[in-house]
Amino acid sequence: MADCLFCQISEKKIPAKIVLENNLVLAFRDINPQAPTHLLIIPRVHISSILELTKDNASIAAEMILLAKSIAQSEGADASGFRLVFNCGPHAGQSVDHLHLHLLAKRVLKWPPG
Ligand code: AMP
Repeated sequence: MADCLFCQISEKKIPAKIVLENNLVLAFRDINPQAPTHLLIIPRVHISSILELTKDNASIAAEMILLAKSIAQSEGADASGFRLVFNCGPHAGQSVDHLHLHLLAKRVLKWPPG
């Protein structure tokens, strides 16, 4: 989608601190980090939110989770722990309408979240 921020990051039209990518998914550092390690993992294809996942495209969620796991390990957060979050819709605070998985690590994270 031409006017989608994360599509433009995926297409390298807008700069981002990309950490890992393949032909399906891409991970980059959040511009406003909420933890010492805070990355976003996105599919290259435009999917607005979890609500647009179906049995036909849900395998992309597994790709995203596996990329998040690799980064958690390479950032040295596998032993201390980390959190993966999909925000969906206004009450969850979703501010970008392109599916993204937050990876948060390197500090103690409170539960329940705010
Ligand atoms: P959410 O609130 O779940 O929709 O998360 C969107 C995230 O995107 C927020 O944590 C923002 O800080 C982050 N964000 C917005 N614009 C950019 C950008 N240009 N580069 C990296 N992260 C961004």
